[in-house]
Amino acid sequence: MLIGSFASAGIDSKRRAAPLPRPIANMKTFTPDSSIASDVIPSANFGERNKGRLPDMILLHYTGMPDVEGAIAQLCTVGTDVSAHYIVLEDGRIVQCVPEAKRAWHAGVSSWAGEDDINSCSIGIEIVNRGHDWGYPDYPRRQIAAVIALCRGIMLRRNVPSHRVLAHSDVAPSRKKDPGEKFPWHSMANSGVGHWVQPAPIVRGDGIKLGTISDSVRDLQQALARYGYGVPITGKYDTTTMEVVTAFQRHFRPLRVDGIADHSTLVTLQSLLASLPAEFMAVAAR
Ligand SMILES: [Zn+2]
Repeated sequence: MLIGSFASAGIDSKRRAAPLPRPIANMKTFTPDSSIASDVIPSANFGERNKGRLPDMILLHYTGMPDVEGAIAQLCTVGTDVSAHYIVLEDGRIVQCVPEAKRAWHAGVSSWAGEDDINSCSIGIEIVNRGHDWGYPDYPRRQIAAVIALCRGIMLRRNVPSHRVLAHSDVAPSRKKDPGEKFPWHSMANSGVGHWVQPAPIVRGDGIKLGTISDSVRDLQQALARYGYGVPITGKYDTTTMEVVTAFQRHFRPLRVDGIADHSTLVTLQSLLASLPAEFMAVAAR
């Protein structure tokens, strides 16, 4: 989701395939890294990757704005301080805004597997969708097919492992919901993009809730941290833990997103961990 104030600037409810905004004058263009990117609209907002860090993560977002023109303007205009490498439109067109070699500004304050400069290690893809604040429509099939094709290319070129194709909400659980529980991670995984196991069925019974202090909370926090989530190991089910569980559910158990660590959530997390390649296990939480 983007920060900004385009939100009230006129909702275009007609979902026509509008012509793309023209690139900003004087911005140097470049050859797209992905052969399926149809357009380049260069963004002014990027820098160098810290210490030459090569990207090995793909971070997926939704634009969270009522119209695509506003979203593109936000991501490309000087002074907004936000950008992404790619934007995927609802009709499946792919626009590149920042060369993959550069550090785009999409993650904000975030962390994963002990690393907190997520912009330096990732490639950011903004998927056009109005988001939770604007009715949160389903993602059209054509758009998802384009996201899959784009990600597959990046994974091959950049050697990105499946379990490092992540949601913005995974790396910033207290601030972000995107791309949200409607994002079809299972379809992505069926096409070889992202790490996914069939979520364990939801059954009756108590889950771990806010305020609980116990060894099972500690075990849960350790398991989440082993997978990559930034969560302190305290043994207390505090707000931070609940937000991380909520982010986990949005991605891996989207049928119920309530922040309660129920049996299904715990079992799904265990089977994800069990299916990670051992050499990629995140360093155990400190
Ligand atoms: Zn985002």
